[in-house]
Amino acid sequence: MTDLQLYDYSEGYEFRFKCGRCGYIWCDHPATLLQHTDMHDRMYLEEVEKRLVCRNCKTRHVQITPMIRRVTHGFVGGLP
Ligand SMILES: [Zn+2]
Repeated sequence: MTDLQLYDYSEGYEFRFKCGRCGYIWCDHPATLLQHTDMHDRMYLEEVEKRLVCRNCKTRHVQITPMIRRVTHGFVGGLP
């Protein structure tokens, strides 16, 4: 249980997603979630989890684990 919002993870974090149904695991940047039309940066992680669909089995059993992203020099990002 966390009271942090998506906004709080916009810098320096990466999310690890794990499907509680099929066990599929993937990682993505928090900013990627905001590209979904039904998500915004003031949502709590719990709310986000409820809307996420597993990339593998397409069901809603996804858990989010925020991870601190290592700062690397020579960042080659393409964020708009
Ligand atoms: Zn799954």
